[in-house]
Amino acid sequence: MSGRFLGSHPADAGGPVMAVRRAAAAQMQALQLFTALPTYYNEKVRIKPDRAAKFREALDAGGIVPARVLVHGAYVLNTASPEEEKSARAKAGLARELERSTALGVGACCFHPGSAGDGDPLEACDRVGDAIRHALETVPESESGTRVLIENTAGAGRTMGRSAAEIARMLARVPRELRHRTGYGLDSCHLFASGHDIASSAEAQRAVLDSFEHVIGERPRFFHLNDSKHPFASNKDRHALIGEGEIGLEPFRWLLADPRTEGISLVLETPHERDEVAEEDASADPFDVKMMVLLATLLPAAP
Ligand SMILES: [Zn+2]
Ligand SMILES: [Zn+2]
Repeated sequence: MSGRFLGSHPADAGGPVMAVRRAAAAQMQALQLFTALPTYYNEKVRIKPDRAAKFREALDAGGIVPARVLVHGAYVLNTASPEEEKSARAKAGLARELERSTALGVGACCFHPGSAGDGDPLEACDRVGDAIRHALETVPESESGTRVLIENTAGAGRTMGRSAAEIARMLARVPRELRHRTGYGLDSCHLFASGHDIASSAEAQRAVLDSFEHVIGERPRFFHLNDSKHPFASNKDRHALIGEGEIGLEPFRWLLADPRTEGISLVLETPHERDEVAEEDASADPFDVKMMVLLATLLPAAP
């Protein structure tokens, strides 16, 4: 056992139970899912206890530990926005994301901080931190210890969260007593696209991870494993299959050998072969299967 928990974001058709079954079909030890349509705010969507129970039964049947499941927040949640209505709705939406994730008993929900628009970027970071605080104050801490995690971004336009300093500022806004319920995760495509050199050498990549750990004061709590369709520092967020993009295969071998990828969820968000999946189809996507096989070849040898 390498202690690396690999998985993907399978198709969501049919809901969380079906996503779990698709992950299990590819022998994944981690997975990511949406708990509602990601193009809506979903401020009113809740998870009923019987659905949560079925979800945990599916995890159990698939041999997947709930703590290794990540929920991805809706894309529309722009907690950084200077527009009052937008940021208020995003705040409410993020609290519901945490509520649904807590109801399911998963390890964390992650989200993109959004864009500062024409507003001040430092104030935007503070709004993101305030939204996290609101979510943590609204949803009581549960046995599952479900966290809210900031995901670094590719840095297109005025999106926030491309640097360690921005993420650190967001997290610094969260009161000390709530801080253990939050953190951050890193997406390899977003790192590369936003100009962090993770691909030229193992040393360069280590320096990038060192700097995030040092500036934020803690290690990332998940990684998204994605190659990039666009070149270094392009600020474009388009994922490619591992080894088939501008990052290339070797940097993922270095990443999987870094002790910071041990013990946390490492989730592919790479393209799927199938665009449409029937709700009742529990089979894994062929590209996901191919990626899982490939990643297994990159894992460090067991000590
Ligand atoms: Zn990602
Ligand atoms: Zn992305």
